[in-house]
Amino acid sequence: MMALDSALDWQQIMAAVERAVMPHIGAGKVADYIPALACIDPRKFGMAVALRDGTMRCLGDADERFSVQSISKVFTLALTLQRVGEALWDAVGREPSGSSFNSIVQLEAEKGIPRNPLINAGAIATTDRLVHSYGGGQAGAWEAMDDLLDTARRLAGDQNIDIDCDVAESESQSGSRNRALAHFMASFGNMKNPVEDSLSAYFCHCSIAISCRQLARAALFLAFDGFDPVTGEEVLSKERCQRILAIMMMSGHYDNSGEFAYRIGLPGKSGVGGGILVVAPGHGTVAVWSPGLNQAGTSMVGSIALEELVRQTGWSVFG
Ligand code: GLU
Repeated sequence: MMALDSALDWQQIMAAVERAVMPHIGAGKVADYIPALACIDPRKFGMAVALRDGTMRCLGDADERFSVQSISKVFTLALTLQRVGEALWDAVGREPSGSSFNSIVQLEAEKGIPRNPLINAGAIATTDRLVHSYGGGQAGAWEAMDDLLDTARRLAGDQNIDIDCDVAESESQSGSRNRALAHFMASFGNMKNPVEDSLSAYFCHCSIAISCRQLARAALFLAFDGFDPVTGEEVLSKERCQRILAIMMMSGHYDNSGEFAYRIGLPGKSGVGGGILVVAPGHGTVAVWSPGLNQAGTSMVGSIALEELVRQTGWSVFG
Protein backbone atom coordinates (compact mmCIF):
# COMPACT_ATOMS: atom_id res chain seq x y z
CA MET A 1 0.00 0.00 0.00
CA MET A 2 1.20 3.51 -0.78
CA ALA A 3 2.63 5.39 2.21
CA LEU A 4 1.14 8.78 3.11
CA ASP A 5 3.48 11.57 2.07
CA SER A 6 3.96 12.56 5.71
CA ALA A 7 5.29 9.05 6.39
CA LEU A 8 7.88 9.16 3.62
CA ASP A 9 11.46 8.94 4.81
CA TRP A 10 13.14 11.43 2.49
CA GLN A 11 16.63 10.74 3.70
CA GLN A 12 16.22 7.10 2.81
CA ILE A 13 14.49 7.91 -0.51
CA MET A 14 17.20 10.31 -1.65
CA ALA A 15 19.89 7.82 -0.62
CA ALA A 16 18.15 5.14 -2.73
CA VAL A 17 17.99 7.50 -5.73
CA GLU A 18 21.67 8.30 -5.31
CA ARG A 19 22.56 4.61 -5.17
CA ALA A 20 20.50 3.96 -8.33
CA VAL A 21 22.12 6.71 -10.40
CA MET A 22 25.74 6.42 -9.27
CA PRO A 23 26.74 3.54 -11.60
CA HIS A 24 25.29 5.46 -14.57
CA ILE A 25 26.64 8.97 -13.99
CA GLY A 26 28.00 10.32 -17.28
CA ALA A 27 25.85 8.00 -19.43
CA GLY A 28 24.14 9.27 -22.57
CA LYS A 29 25.13 11.86 -25.12
CA VAL A 30 25.20 15.59 -24.42
CA ALA A 31 23.23 17.59 -27.04
CA ASP A 32 25.71 19.12 -29.44
CA TYR A 33 23.48 20.43 -32.23
CA ILE A 34 23.30 23.64 -30.19
CA PRO A 35 27.05 24.38 -29.82
CA ALA A 36 26.65 26.24 -26.51
CA LEU A 37 25.23 23.08 -24.90
CA ALA A 38 27.99 20.76 -26.12
CA CYS A 39 30.52 21.79 -23.47
CA ILE A 40 28.41 20.89 -20.40
CA ASP A 41 30.01 18.32 -18.10
CA PRO A 42 28.10 15.04 -18.65
CA ARG A 43 28.81 13.97 -15.05
CA LYS A 44 26.55 16.63 -13.57
CA PHE A 45 23.53 15.35 -11.68
CA GLY A 46 20.99 17.22 -9.60
CA MET A 47 17.49 16.59 -8.33
CA ALA A 48 14.96 18.65 -6.37
CA VAL A 49 11.58 17.59 -5.02
CA ALA A 50 9.13 20.35 -4.08
CA LEU A 51 6.39 19.40 -1.63
CA ARG A 52 2.98 20.86 -0.74
CA ASP A 53 4.31 23.01 2.09
CA GLY A 54 7.08 24.39 -0.14
CA THR A 55 9.82 22.35 1.51
CA MET A 56 12.42 20.95 -0.85
CA ARG A 57 14.44 17.73 -0.86
CA CYS A 58 17.58 18.13 -2.94
CA LEU A 59 20.41 16.00 -4.22
CA GLY A 60 23.71 16.69 -6.01
CA ASP A 61 23.90 19.74 -8.29
CA ALA A 62 20.33 20.85 -7.50
CA ASP A 63 21.35 24.49 -7.20
CA GLU A 64 23.38 24.71 -10.39
CA ARG A 65 21.55 26.41 -13.23
CA PHE A 66 21.20 24.53 -16.50
CA SER A 67 19.53 25.25 -19.85
CA VAL A 68 15.79 24.64 -19.45
CA GLN A 69 15.29 24.05 -23.19
CA SER A 70 11.97 22.37 -23.98
CA ILE A 71 10.76 22.27 -20.40
CA SER A 72 9.98 25.96 -21.01
CA LYS A 73 7.27 24.80 -23.41
CA VAL A 74 5.07 23.88 -20.43
CA PHE A 75 5.26 27.41 -19.05
CA THR A 76 4.79 28.95 -22.50
CA LEU A 77 1.70 26.78 -22.97
CA ALA A 78 0.28 27.77 -19.59
CA LEU A 79 0.87 31.48 -20.21
CA THR A 80 -0.50 31.35 -23.74
CA LEU A 81 -3.66 29.57 -22.63
CA GLN A 82 -4.15 32.25 -20.01
CA ARG A 83 -3.78 35.00 -22.62
CA VAL A 84 -5.53 33.61 -25.71
CA GLY A 85 -7.72 30.88 -24.25
CA GLU A 86 -9.18 28.10 -26.38
CA ALA A 87 -8.30 29.96 -29.61
CA LEU A 88 -4.84 28.41 -29.21
CA TRP A 89 -6.29 25.11 -30.39
CA ASP A 90 -6.87 26.58 -33.88
CA ALA A 91 -3.08 26.77 -34.23
CA VAL A 92 -1.96 23.51 -32.62
CA GLY A 93 -3.37 20.06 -31.83
CA ARG A 94 -3.38 17.87 -28.75
CA GLU A 95 -2.25 14.51 -30.12
CA PRO A 96 1.03 12.75 -29.44
CA SER A 97 3.34 12.94 -32.44
CA GLY A 98 5.35 9.72 -32.18
CA SER A 99 8.05 11.70 -34.00
CA SER A 100 11.28 13.34 -32.95
CA PHE A 101 11.29 16.76 -31.33
CA ASN A 102 12.09 18.74 -34.46
CA SER A 103 10.28 16.58 -37.04
CA ILE A 104 8.70 18.28 -40.03
CA VAL A 105 7.04 15.26 -41.68
CA GLN A 106 3.56 15.52 -40.17
CA LEU A 107 3.27 19.22 -40.88
CA GLU A 108 2.73 18.78 -44.60
CA ALA A 109 0.00 16.16 -44.33
CA GLU A 110 -1.67 18.11 -41.51
CA LYS A 111 -1.58 21.46 -43.30
CA GLY A 112 0.79 23.31 -41.04
CA ILE A 113 -1.00 22.48 -37.76
CA PRO A 114 1.51 20.80 -35.43
CA ARG A 115 0.40 17.79 -33.44
CA ASN A 116 0.86 19.30 -29.96
CA PRO A 117 2.40 22.29 -28.12
CA LEU A 118 5.33 20.28 -26.73
CA ILE A 119 7.07 19.43 -30.00
CA ASN A 120 9.18 22.18 -31.54
CA ALA A 121 6.71 23.09 -34.29
CA GLY A 122 3.85 23.23 -31.77
CA ALA A 123 5.84 25.30 -29.30
CA ILE A 124 6.82 27.74 -32.05
CA ALA A 125 3.15 28.10 -33.09
CA THR A 126 2.19 28.57 -29.41
CA THR A 127 4.91 31.18 -28.91
CA ASP A 128 3.70 32.92 -32.05
CA ARG A 129 0.21 33.25 -30.53
CA LEU A 130 1.72 34.47 -27.27
CA VAL A 131 3.75 37.12 -29.12
CA HIS A 132 0.63 38.13 -31.03
CA SER A 133 -1.28 38.53 -27.77
CA TYR A 134 1.22 41.25 -26.81
CA GLY A 135 0.63 43.15 -30.03
CA GLY A 136 2.96 41.10 -32.20
CA GLY A 137 6.24 41.93 -33.93
CA GLN A 138 9.56 42.34 -32.15
CA ALA A 139 7.97 44.45 -29.40
CA GLY A 140 5.48 41.66 -28.73
CA ALA A 141 8.33 39.14 -28.70
CA TRP A 142 10.21 41.16 -26.07
CA GLU A 143 7.09 41.35 -23.91
CA ALA A 144 6.45 37.63 -24.28
CA MET A 145 10.03 36.89 -23.22
CA ASP A 146 9.81 39.22 -20.24
CA ASP A 147 6.47 37.90 -19.10
CA LEU A 148 7.61 34.28 -19.17
CA LEU A 149 10.79 35.12 -17.29
CA ASP A 150 8.91 37.18 -14.70
CA THR A 151 6.38 34.36 -14.28
CA ALA A 152 9.13 31.81 -13.65
CA ARG A 153 10.84 34.13 -11.15
CA ARG A 154 7.61 34.91 -9.32
CA LEU A 155 6.56 31.27 -9.08
CA ALA A 156 10.03 30.16 -7.98
CA GLY A 157 10.18 33.01 -5.47
CA ASP A 158 13.65 33.68 -6.82
CA GLN A 159 14.84 36.51 -9.07
CA ASN A 160 18.01 34.64 -9.98
CA ILE A 161 16.56 33.05 -13.14
CA ASP A 162 17.80 34.52 -16.42
CA ILE A 163 18.03 34.05 -20.12
CA ASP A 164 21.49 32.74 -21.03
CA CYS A 165 22.27 35.02 -23.96
CA ASP A 166 25.12 32.81 -25.23
CA VAL A 167 22.77 29.83 -25.48
CA ALA A 168 20.05 31.96 -27.11
CA GLU A 169 22.55 33.23 -29.69
CA SER A 170 23.87 29.73 -30.30
CA GLU A 171 20.32 28.43 -30.75
CA SER A 172 19.53 31.16 -33.21
CA GLN A 173 22.72 30.56 -35.20
CA SER A 174 22.12 26.83 -35.39
CA GLY A 175 18.34 27.19 -35.75
CA SER A 176 17.87 26.23 -39.41
CA ARG A 177 15.50 23.40 -38.57
CA ASN A 178 13.34 25.55 -36.30
CA ARG A 179 13.30 28.26 -38.99
CA ALA A 180 12.23 25.64 -41.53
CA LEU A 181 9.38 24.54 -39.24
CA ALA A 182 8.25 28.13 -38.72
CA HIS A 183 8.38 29.04 -42.41
CA PHE A 184 6.59 25.85 -43.31
CA MET A 185 3.78 26.71 -40.90
CA ALA A 186 3.77 30.28 -42.24
CA SER A 187 3.24 28.89 -45.75
CA PHE A 188 -0.01 27.38 -44.47
CA GLY A 189 -1.00 30.67 -42.80
CA ASN A 190 -0.32 29.33 -39.31
CA MET A 191 2.01 32.09 -38.10
CA LYS A 192 0.59 35.48 -37.11
CA ASN A 193 3.93 37.30 -36.79
CA PRO A 194 7.07 37.59 -38.89
CA VAL A 195 8.82 34.27 -38.33
CA GLU A 196 11.99 35.82 -36.88
CA ASP A 197 10.05 37.69 -34.21
CA SER A 198 8.31 34.60 -32.87
CA LEU A 199 11.50 32.56 -33.14
CA SER A 200 13.45 35.10 -31.12
CA ALA A 201 10.98 34.64 -28.25
CA TYR A 202 11.08 30.84 -28.68
CA PHE A 203 14.91 30.73 -28.60
CA CYS A 204 15.00 32.93 -25.51
CA HIS A 205 12.44 30.83 -23.63
CA CYS A 206 14.47 27.70 -24.39
CA SER A 207 17.63 29.45 -23.18
CA ILE A 208 16.45 30.22 -19.67
CA ALA A 209 19.03 29.14 -17.10
CA ILE A 210 17.34 27.64 -14.05
CA SER A 211 18.25 25.19 -11.29
CA CYS A 212 16.38 22.04 -10.28
CA ARG A 213 15.34 23.74 -7.04
CA GLN A 214 13.96 26.78 -8.89
CA LEU A 215 12.22 24.69 -11.55
CA ALA A 216 10.51 22.30 -9.14
CA ARG A 217 9.29 25.22 -7.03
CA ALA A 218 8.09 27.26 -10.03
CA ALA A 219 6.04 24.30 -11.32
CA LEU A 220 4.45 23.39 -7.97
CA PHE A 221 1.07 24.87 -8.99
CA LEU A 222 0.78 22.08 -11.58
CA ALA A 223 0.64 19.49 -8.79
CA PHE A 224 -2.13 21.32 -6.89
CA ASP A 225 -4.91 21.99 -9.37
CA GLY A 226 -3.37 25.23 -10.64
CA PHE A 227 -2.92 26.77 -7.16
CA ASP A 228 0.45 27.50 -5.66
CA PRO A 229 -0.04 25.58 -2.39
CA VAL A 230 2.28 27.88 -0.45
CA THR A 231 1.17 31.35 -1.55
CA GLY A 232 -2.41 30.38 -2.47
CA GLU A 233 -2.05 32.12 -5.86
CA GLU A 234 -4.36 30.71 -8.54
CA VAL A 235 -1.99 30.42 -11.47
CA LEU A 236 -4.41 28.43 -13.64
CA SER A 237 -7.90 27.01 -13.31
CA LYS A 238 -8.10 23.39 -12.15
CA GLU A 239 -9.49 22.34 -15.52
CA ARG A 240 -6.69 24.01 -17.47
CA CYS A 241 -4.10 22.53 -15.14
CA GLN A 242 -5.50 19.02 -15.65
CA ARG A 243 -5.42 19.50 -19.40
CA ILE A 244 -1.82 20.66 -19.44
CA LEU A 245 -0.91 17.56 -17.41
CA ALA A 246 -2.77 15.38 -19.94
CA ILE A 247 -0.69 16.88 -22.75
CA MET A 248 2.51 16.38 -20.76
CA MET A 249 1.59 12.75 -20.12
CA MET A 250 0.90 12.01 -23.77
CA SER A 251 3.51 14.19 -25.46
CA GLY A 252 6.11 15.38 -22.97
CA HIS A 253 9.01 13.35 -24.35
CA TYR A 254 8.45 13.23 -28.11
CA ASP A 255 8.77 9.65 -29.43
CA ASN A 256 9.85 8.53 -25.95
CA SER A 257 6.55 9.53 -24.31
CA GLY A 258 5.11 6.01 -24.11
CA GLU A 259 8.28 4.58 -22.61
CA PHE A 260 8.44 7.43 -20.10
CA ALA A 261 4.79 6.88 -19.06
CA TYR A 262 5.48 3.17 -18.69
CA ARG A 263 8.57 3.64 -16.56
CA ILE A 264 7.70 6.75 -14.55
CA GLY A 265 3.89 6.98 -14.68
CA LEU A 266 3.76 10.75 -14.13
CA PRO A 267 3.21 13.68 -16.51
CA GLY A 268 6.53 15.25 -17.41
CA LYS A 269 8.54 17.28 -19.85
CA SER A 270 12.11 16.76 -20.93
CA GLY A 271 14.57 19.19 -22.47
CA VAL A 272 17.76 18.64 -24.45
CA GLY A 273 19.67 20.51 -21.74
CA GLY A 274 19.24 17.28 -19.75
CA GLY A 275 16.46 18.48 -17.46
CA ILE A 276 13.20 16.67 -16.79
CA LEU A 277 10.26 18.09 -14.86
CA VAL A 278 7.63 15.70 -13.53
CA VAL A 279 4.40 16.45 -11.71
CA ALA A 280 2.93 14.14 -9.07
CA PRO A 281 -0.61 15.51 -8.68
CA GLY A 282 -1.51 16.07 -5.04
CA HIS A 283 2.05 15.32 -3.93
CA GLY A 284 4.60 17.67 -5.49
CA THR A 285 6.98 18.24 -8.37
CA VAL A 286 10.38 16.85 -9.22
CA ALA A 287 13.07 18.47 -11.35
CA VAL A 288 16.08 16.41 -12.29
CA TRP A 289 19.12 17.32 -14.39
CA SER A 290 21.82 15.24 -15.98
CA PRO A 291 23.06 16.30 -19.43
CA GLY A 292 23.56 12.90 -21.13
CA LEU A 293 20.55 12.13 -23.35
CA ASN A 294 19.03 9.04 -24.90
CA GLN A 295 18.18 8.95 -28.62
CA ALA A 296 14.88 10.77 -28.09
CA GLY A 297 16.53 13.66 -26.22
CA THR A 298 15.52 12.61 -22.69
CA SER A 299 18.10 12.59 -19.90
CA MET A 300 19.28 9.02 -19.31
CA VAL A 301 20.41 9.38 -15.73
CA GLY A 302 17.49 11.71 -15.00
CA SER A 303 15.07 8.97 -16.07
CA ILE A 304 16.82 6.43 -13.84
CA ALA A 305 16.57 8.83 -10.89
CA LEU A 306 12.87 9.39 -11.50
CA GLU A 307 12.20 5.69 -11.87
CA GLU A 308 13.76 5.06 -8.47
CA LEU A 309 11.96 8.02 -6.93
CA VAL A 310 8.53 6.77 -8.00
CA ARG A 311 9.41 3.25 -6.86
CA GLN A 312 10.28 4.64 -3.43
CA THR A 313 7.34 7.05 -3.06
CA GLY A 314 4.64 5.07 -4.87
CA TRP A 315 3.71 8.29 -6.74
CA SER A 316 1.83 7.56 -9.97
CA VAL A 317 -1.22 8.92 -11.76
CA PHE A 318 -2.32 5.30 -12.19
CA GLY A 319 -3.33 4.70 -8.57
N1 GLU B 1 15.65 24.59 -28.08
C1 GLU B 1 15.60 23.24 -28.51
C2 GLU B 1 15.30 23.20 -29.99
O1 GLU B 1 14.51 23.98 -30.41
C3 GLU B 1 14.56 22.50 -27.71
C4 GLU B 1 14.54 21.00 -27.94
C5 GLU B 1 14.36 20.21 -26.68
O2 GLU B 1 14.73 20.65 -25.60
O3 GLU B 1 13.82 19.09 -26.76
O4 GLU B 1 15.85 22.47 -30.73
